[in-house]
Amino acid sequence: MNNPHVLVIPYPVQGHVRPLLEFSQLLVKHGIKITFVNTEFSHQRIMNAFGSKVSVDGSIHFVSLPDGMGVDENKNHIGRSIESICQFMPMELKQLINEINRPNGDEVTCILTDMFMGWSLEIAAELGIKAAALFPASALSLASMFAIPTMIDGGVIDENGTPLKHEMIQLSSETPAINPSHFSWVSIEGFTTQKILFNFFQRNIKAVEKIEWLLSNSTYELEAGALATMAPKVLPIGPLSTYEGVGTLVANFWPEDSSCLKWLDKQPPRSVIYVAFGSFTILDQTQFWELALGLQHSNKPFLWVVRPDITEAKDEAYPKGFRASVADRGQMVGWAPQRAVLSHPSIACFLSHCGWNSTLEGVSNGVPFLCWPYFADQFMNESYICEIWKVGLKLEKDESGIIGQEEIKSKMEKLLSDENLKARAMELKEKIRTSVKEGGYSNKILKSFIEWVKS
Ligand code: UDP
Repeated sequence: MNNPHVLVIPYPVQGHVRPLLEFSQLLVKHGIKITFVNTEFSHQRIMNAFGSKVSVDGSIHFVSLPDGMGVDENKNHIGRSIESICQFMPMELKQLINEINRPNGDEVTCILTDMFMGWSLEIAAELGIKAAALFPASALSLASMFAIPTMIDGGVIDENGTPLKHEMIQLSSETPAINPSHFSWVSIEGFTTQKILFNFFQRNIKAVEKIEWLLSNSTYELEAGALATMAPKVLPIGPLSTYEGVGTLVANFWPEDSSCLKWLDKQPPRSVIYVAFGSFTILDQTQFWELALGLQHSNKPFLWVVRPDITEAKDEAYPKGFRASVADRGQMVGWAPQRAVLSHPSIACFLSHCGWNSTLEGVSNGVPFLCWPYFADQFMNESYICEIWKVGLKLEKDESGIIGQEEIKSKMEKLLSDENLKARAMELKEKIRTSVKEGGYSNKILKSFIEWVKS
């Protein structure tokens, strides 16, 4: 057979490109050639953030395709992005594969797609190329998508995915109860977007029906119950970020500011509050202020990721006197090297929006959480953290929908004084790490998958 050459296709957002690139690095280590397909927009952002690093690691070949959106269009508009990608990218992908497969080219032997790019599996089938998919979010959120037909039949949701009942839903006796308003397609703003997302998920579930390998960036140690509802169709190989050798090349949409690592070196062990909301979350001015004041009045050292677009206002968004008052114990950066930050000994807790990657990165470093979810699957991840694994606390909104400075300060104190919770976080870390080591479940599945790719 030809040398294995895998075309890797992530959905073009930060939280999906990252794990697909981690997966690619693991394949490269086994002598597999990778062509990594970004959209032009994400390609540009990632290359800008790489700076000179990309030439150091030439093992992954990066290419880009247009997503059909105008340069000025808002890529964070989920509904519009999905529609454009599904309409324009299939033709572009076919053309790319034909170009790569020209005589004497390094023929594509396998397509490894993000399940959110399920349309590419239809192309793989049409061109006779073997294909596999990775679901980059939690197995529970995937299980809720697989359960859509049953939930429609059972009158739990309607044909548009809208919940018809308010009771908590349990997909099996082993899975956490889900509030129906927390399904990924429901906890998103606007009915039209909800509907687009719901149809998109159904299409993706259909697209993976016939493939041999549907992998999950999760582990039995974290999600045995949810994985059991989809066995043997879905197999866990995660957390991808914890394998040795992963992370030499990190896909960022913003350039990393690594200066904070030196600052962390100077802080006492387990003293710093790390605050980060991933790549999408936007805080309004009032909420941004309350957070700043909560950090200011906590009197604890903190490292806060203030993405350039986290709030509409810029520097003056900080409360008056804030910068001066926290100058000796607070650091604000535009984008942090999060994995390195979370594994730093000076980190005490992670105030997080609970995106799945952040969740995995926190638990696999034994860091306790203060949870502040915003949308999509983040509420389910919060339930895992606080109710199932019991390694974090929820921040509660007040009657005006704001998480106030007092709530932030008091939950922070409660969390930092809870020795049992901290001990559970450390135990969970050890368990998770075992799964990716030699002999661990995730490791074994990954190895079988690599054999299949090479066969
Ligand atoms: N991240 C980072 N630096 C930051 C903030 C976030 O490297 O300052 C990374 C984080 O490590 C994670 C990803 O961005 O891998 C965010 O993915 P996640 O699923 O947590 O959230 P999303 O951005 O999809 O909401």
